[in-house]
Amino acid sequence: MNIILFGPPGVGKGTQAVLLAAGRGLKHLSTGEMLRELVKTGSEVGKRVDMIMTGGGFVSDDIVIGIIADRIDQPDCANGFILDGFPRNLKQAVALDELLRSKGKAIDRVIEIHGEERALVERISGRFSCANCGANYHGAFKLPKLTGVCDYCGATKFTRRADDNVETVRVRLMAYYRETAPLIGYYFCKGGLESVDGMPPVDEVARNINAVLD
Ligand code: AMP
Repeated sequence: MNIILFGPPGVGKGTQAVLLAAGRGLKHLSTGEMLRELVKTGSEVGKRVDMIMTGGGFVSDDIVIGIIADRIDQPDCANGFILDGFPRNLKQAVALDELLRSKGKAIDRVIEIHGEERALVERISGRFSCANCGANYHGAFKLPKLTGVCDYCGATKFTRRADDNVETVRVRLMAYYRETAPLIGYYFCKGGLESVDGMPPVDEVARNINAVLD
């Protein structure tokens, strides 16, 4: 099964994609994560991507389409994949359709997760993660049980995404509503669109996503 998960920043796409991938044996493909890896290489293209991401804008369509085209051909995607953060605009959606058609593949379900804007800003501006195992925390809702120590691996270093701050979140939300939200209409017309509320607790949202997939 091939699935697209999309929704505004902070709505929980990444968290739900990880759970869904583990539960259904699918490969989680996050373009945001792949781009952050590209930035870490320190290459010229990585530096340009870093500047765009830090400002909250979109990386060029050609770069992300190229990344996805390479990635979905890998053997670990053979059982199916979950696209998280891609496509993010109509050009990417059309390119994805053409790409999949040329490979004899298709998207089976598209899940739009929605949330309340004020809560999204609050969620993103407080989130941070363990620098060692990547476990997610939040300054107001989910602090480590022991201050400064990761609950899962005991590491004492934490990181915060450069684009997770109040100013950039507003730019990212604006980009979502301007560029990505029109995909709701696109996928509704193509068929297979499901909408899920991302505001309840994580396990409840996961149950609701699984219910619409079943
Ligand atoms: P995310 O991890 O999905 O929140 O993405 C973080 C940032 O990566 C976004 O704000 C964009 O700058 C960039 N990005 C991720 N996916 C895409 C995409 N499909 N198209 C353009 N830019 C993207």
